[in-house]
Amino acid sequence: MTNFRWPRLLLITLCFNVLAACTEQAPSTNSSQQADKNQSFEWKMVTTWPPGFPVLQKGAERFADNIRVMSNGRLNIKVYAGGELIPPLQTFEAVSQGSVEMGHGSAYYWAGKVPEAQFFSTVPFGMTARGMNAWLYDGGGLELWREIYKPFHVIPFPLGNTGVQMGGWFNKEINSLEDIKGLKMRIPGLGGKVLAKAGGNPILLAGSEVYTALERNTIDATEWIGPYHDQRLGLYRAAKHYYYPGWHEPGTVLELTINQRAWESLPTDLQAIISNAAQAENLRMLSEMEQKNMAALEQLRKREGIEIHRFPNEVLSRLKKLTNETLIEEAERDPKFKRVYDAYQNFRKKNDAWSAISENAYLAIE
Ligand code: CA
Repeated sequence: MTNFRWPRLLLITLCFNVLAACTEQAPSTNSSQQADKNQSFEWKMVTTWPPGFPVLQKGAERFADNIRVMSNGRLNIKVYAGGELIPPLQTFEAVSQGSVEMGHGSAYYWAGKVPEAQFFSTVPFGMTARGMNAWLYDGGGLELWREIYKPFHVIPFPLGNTGVQMGGWFNKEINSLEDIKGLKMRIPGLGGKVLAKAGGNPILLAGSEVYTALERNTIDATEWIGPYHDQRLGLYRAAKHYYYPGWHEPGTVLELTINQRAWESLPTDLQAIISNAAQAENLRMLSEMEQKNMAALEQLRKREGIEIHRFPNEVLSRLKKLTNETLIEEAERDPKFKRVYDAYQNFRKKNDAWSAISENAYLAIE
């Protein structure tokens, strides 16, 4: 018997190939899963939206359907609306703990836990969808967002955008800053803080309570989303003055969240399918929102009694100034908030300078 010895070069090549294969198949350490390309995954996604909620819940369901088709049934995601599996605002926690693999909502819902997360959904007088997509995909925003969520073992992706929202429904006209004083308005988050600084009285109400509160004059005003969702909620029957623009939510980003361990258990082709399906759905939800809002606006305009007003310049300028003060105060209090605020502002200044001579200049032509 000859003593067989592996040629040295072949041995090195073999080792290299094994290593390369492991590296390509990436973050997981579970090699048995990586080896089996036919393994299928049954995942759960929880959302913050009511069952059947148009555009947002429907978009999350379409995203899951697309992934099932593209993966040839290897990744099946069952989507649960808010309350069907867990309460809507426990979405982030559930994904973080891994009791579900995926969530859909918006980052400002977690402001109590992660205040700086608000920059990844929207802030008053912040960037519109165009600017947010540019920042997130190509301006370092997404990397920063992932770093912020990393301690929670959550990986975020942009998955939809509401576009510029409406300013809301008011039971009286807003002609000056005086009309804001004492105004009881349902407006969440930083927008509510800014309203309070202007002398208003922000009220927190779940979506399901908004219509009745406005109709019974428990509140004087409410914001919701845009013409399409506002019309569906029947808000035009509860107040007749409809104001624009939605200074408090100029382009709310919706987010897909994925549990880090679940993500790492996937082979790279399924990870690529998720990433690309998320980009596709991000565009699709924004497009659908724009189209539905323009159709609903036309209907609302034709409906007798609806008055659509722009907020007076005096009011918008004051709210903008108070927003800047609020953001600076939060940044001074919290270094993590400051870090994201600085990155956001840095990108935003350049985005504003470019928009001023591109889209804004073009749209300003009479
Ligand atoms: Ca809103």
